[in-house]
Amino acid sequence: MRTILQDATLLSPNPNHPVQRHMDLVIQDDIISGIYPHHLEHTRHDANTRVLNARHWLVIPGLVNSHAHSYMAYFRNYGSGLHLHDWLFTKIFPAEARLTQEDVAWGTAMGLLEMLRGGITAVCDMPLIPQAGMRFAEESGMRVATGFSVFQTEFNPPSCKTIFSEFEANYAQYHNRNNGLMKVFATVHSGYLYPADVLAEGAAWLVQHGYRVHTHLHETRKEVEDDLLLFGKRPIQRFAEMGLLSPKNIAAHCVHLEEEDRLLLKKYGMLAVPCPTSNLRLAAGFPQLVAMKEAGVNYALGTDGQSSGNAMDLWKEMRLASLLSSAQTNNPGAFADWEILQMCTSTPAQHLFAEENETMGVLEVGAKADLIAVNTDAPHFTALNDPLSAAIHHTLPTDVDWVMVNGEVLYEQGQYTRLDEEHIRYEVQTRSKRLLHGLA
Ligand SMILES: [Zn+2]
Repeated sequence: MRTILQDATLLSPNPNHPVQRHMDLVIQDDIISGIYPHHLEHTRHDANTRVLNARHWLVIPGLVNSHAHSYMAYFRNYGSGLHLHDWLFTKIFPAEARLTQEDVAWGTAMGLLEMLRGGITAVCDMPLIPQAGMRFAEESGMRVATGFSVFQTEFNPPSCKTIFSEFEANYAQYHNRNNGLMKVFATVHSGYLYPADVLAEGAAWLVQHGYRVHTHLHETRKEVEDDLLLFGKRPIQRFAEMGLLSPKNIAAHCVHLEEEDRLLLKKYGMLAVPCPTSNLRLAAGFPQLVAMKEAGVNYALGTDGQSSGNAMDLWKEMRLASLLSSAQTNNPGAFADWEILQMCTSTPAQHLFAEENETMGVLEVGAKADLIAVNTDAPHFTALNDPLSAAIHHTLPTDVDWVMVNGEVLYEQGQYTRLDEEHIRYEVQTRSKRLLHGLA
């Protein structure tokens, strides 16, 4: 099957040509097979070719959400006005204790539905009950990296124990399933949720077996101060000593970093993932993206869950990353717009999802066809002087018209091709009432 996007404006995380106007982009099966100026005769059309008029479209690599808790749709806008620890322990954990497997499944479906609608084609997810969400992860057709824990009853640390064989079975079942779209990481929620000896045992096993780890690190000042009191070390130092910092691993937030922390993140090639909305809303702090760039740290962006982040909207996160960085450094050019786009496309796509022989997150011949189109035929895109600035600074999720993952169209002009929007929204609306009933 061949698709041609005709006369599009292409936006790339590439300093040499971030914007290319009047271009034809050809997709053959799951790969970008050609990029040509629109006026050139380049491809023979036959019965297997679909031609789309892309004159009003900004065509962009699919966005990658590098840190999310997709199942949390039920708790959207719930527990506002609290610091992270109060919010987590007095609001979220009691509500989550009521979740059944089916609740988690439908909540995950809602997260995937919302992300696709806004142009997110891949997500690094940290679920509560991962098995429950897998059927929708597979059905969605998106790239989904799911975290399975190696710690049992992680919300009840006194009885916490390691469960390695269960993790191995899930890894065997789900890693690279669905034509390689699904990946499995090990969830190490944080340094503060498990007893220290259990964490050390789990870390040693994960390192020994080479599994990839998704964790939260240095989200709040309290997390860092508690570790200094308890262990005389900062969490990143502890994680480095346990072998949990690695180019294959990913740490959400990384808000409170000193120079020594940035040096460790850089040394081990760890992917740091600030979630600006969540970090600001929980008063965790201001992400320090410019300092990360200057220190040579790898970084990407995430939405976090819908409760702390309110929405799974990476357009908002890119905008905030840009605005915060400008204000923090008194430099409106702290990040070029293509660098902001890079945080949600090439950097995380390549780091989290690409196998050795695969290219992702770019508009190049030979790259995987994970693509989205933003419709600029709207008042807020008129006049369109700088399309890349428009994409970063005022695109809304509802501006996304068309989403393709691995060569398959998953959303087009208001319609999902795989997910049942009406059913998913009904289930989540109904279940949310039950889950929050009677809670303060
Ligand atoms: Zn999180």
